[in-house]
Amino acid sequence: GPRTAQHLDLFPDLFQLIQRTRSALGARTLRRALLEPLREPEDIGHRQDGVRELAEKPARAEGLGKILAELYDLERIAGRLTTGLAHPRDTWALGKSLATLPGLARTLDSAQTPLLTELRSRLETTGQALAPLAERILRTQNEEAPLTVREGGIFAKGTDPELDRLIDLSTEGSRFLVELETRERERTGIPSLKVRYNRVFGYYIEVTQAHLKNVPPEYQRKQTTVGAERFFTEELKKFEDEIVTAEDKRKRLELRLFEDLLAAARARTPAIMEGARALGELDAWLSLSRLTELPGWNFPLIDSTLDLDIVAGRHPGVDAVSRGKFVPNDLKLGPKSRLSLLITGPNMGGKSTVMRQVALIVVLGQCGAPVPARSARWGAFSSVYTRIGAHDAIARGQSTFMVEMSELAHILHRADDRSLVVLDEIGRGTSTYDGISVAWATLEWICQKIRCRTLFATHYHELTQLAESLPRLGNAHMAVAAPSKSGESQLRFLYQLREGPANESFGIQVAQLAGIPRGVINRAWKVLAELENEMRGRGREPELAGFGPGEALEEALPLFAAAAGKKGLTRGADDSAHVGRITERAPELDPRAAFERAFDEPLEPLPVQVSMPDWAEELRNAEVNAMTPLQALNFLAQLQERSRLTH
Ligand code: ATP
Repeated sequence: GPRTAQHLDLFPDLFQLIQRTRSALGARTLRRALLEPLREPEDIGHRQDGVRELAEKPARAEGLGKILAELYDLERIAGRLTTGLAHPRDTWALGKSLATLPGLARTLDSAQTPLLTELRSRLETTGQALAPLAERILRTQNEEAPLTVREGGIFAKGTDPELDRLIDLSTEGSRFLVELETRERERTGIPSLKVRYNRVFGYYIEVTQAHLKNVPPEYQRKQTTVGAERFFTEELKKFEDEIVTAEDKRKRLELRLFEDLLAAARARTPAIMEGARALGELDAWLSLSRLTELPGWNFPLIDSTLDLDIVAGRHPGVDAVSRGKFVPNDLKLGPKSRLSLLITGPNMGGKSTVMRQVALIVVLGQCGAPVPARSARWGAFSSVYTRIGAHDAIARGQSTFMVEMSELAHILHRADDRSLVVLDEIGRGTSTYDGISVAWATLEWICQKIRCRTLFATHYHELTQLAESLPRLGNAHMAVAAPSKSGESQLRFLYQLREGPANESFGIQVAQLAGIPRGVINRAWKVLAELENEMRGRGREPELAGFGPGEALEEALPLFAAAAGKKGLTRGADDSAHVGRITERAPELDPRAAFERAFDEPLEPLPVQVSMPDWAEELRNAEVNAMTPLQALNFLAQLQERSRLTH
């Protein structure tokens, strides 16, 4: 759906990366294919076979591509035919485009796979059905078709006998004017005499000031200009009346002929649309086939199991910009081992990237495309649900917990055992206790009720304990080389997905890397040490501060209980460990005041960030030209709804 497409940056990022279509029809088909990947292993295999066959014969692909590059946007033309807005250039483009059908079909004569043989016969059938129309257009229309229908000049000689007669009349007319000019020059002895025409004054004879004395008496004055006089004669007037009538007749006739042509074309709209679909598909599958040229892209094997096994997978976008430095990752899920993977690791460790890459590989693979992985095999997914990248959402002015939760609600209601669910930092938009609780319960729900393949990234290390009680849940983490170990002076990200939970979070080190002032970092280490001391005092290891489903929350989360006591967080009136109440903030706790007390420094005013809401950004990036009227209407309605949500 559109939300998933947004979280995965399918548009414009992935689309731009993989798009190699030659025509607007193909681009639109590819877009639709990305938004609606195939679900049945059979269909996917069928598409893959065809795409592979196109890739196997580069010369043929090149030939097809050349023809497709000449195509006009048949869908738009068909739209203008039905709305009556088509002009002569549209019909000319229609004729040109329809004429490509037989050639494309012929190029596919040797095709073997069902996808291509079926496409070939569709191209052939529509090509034959539309050949008379294409022939009629190309035979009768002038190549340089005018933009408007009122000025004439649409049709060539041979279209219609009456039109031929009128065209002859105007060619004879120009001959007459040349003759008249020569004759009058000789007769008057004025060598610079000119016979001309303009829109306002019609036809006239022009004589410069110097020769006015030689003008014959029967010349009648029409207009005076700088340095010249313009005249007419009875002969010229008579000619003008005739020629203007003929021109008028011709324009009216051409208009009628064009309306006939439009009616004929309009009657073929269904066939034209069918041809457009076949052309769009051919272009889109050709575009996918060209991805096989990319190093390290291979076709996945898609079956009906519930496995997911990716070997040396890469994120297509990040890989493309990291100049060979991208670290590929393996990932394996399945009903026999684990269906869900909880991924921990430091900020910037690569969690979002590895999760996105899995989802992108799945989407690409189920479109019938090769994927950026050494090998990949999975049981076909019926849907992909993602909620990724809280930081992206913030950048779009949409960090509210409400949005996060309504998206999660949507996912939890819709996902089934054939879904791929990708969740990033669920619960981080609220207070820690609430967040952990929601994340915890979500994981349980997914593992026990939905039972679908799931990737779940979190900073809540407490959740890693869940793997002990949930048999379908496994732990993995993004590896880092820590400063303390192996002589590293700084935290270094390895971007490797490894088994087991992360054992440290490195939040403060990452903060330091990001350039947080030394004073803040030092103070943070002190606060952390104090919190850890407090926990040890309660006889628990901070890293193992998890809680089992039966345990009271407060007991199970000493870190937060300690923090609650120390920082003045209030409890509910009955003093029970009710999550919602614990997190209420005491009125006297003003973070800025607290900061200023702790550091003895006034705070800089906070920078104000102005960001565009994401719907506005989507509007800005939208390819309005690539939409059908219905799509445009839906798009508009959806934008409006979202604009009301965010403001
Ligand atoms: P956070 O928890 O802060 O959201 P994260 O763990 O989700 O961080 P990512 O956003 O996935 O981290 O990755 C951070 C950056 O690390 C990416 O923008 C990318 O430049 C780089 N990176 C991620 N994965 C890899 C990889 N496999 N190989 C090379 N670079 C990578």
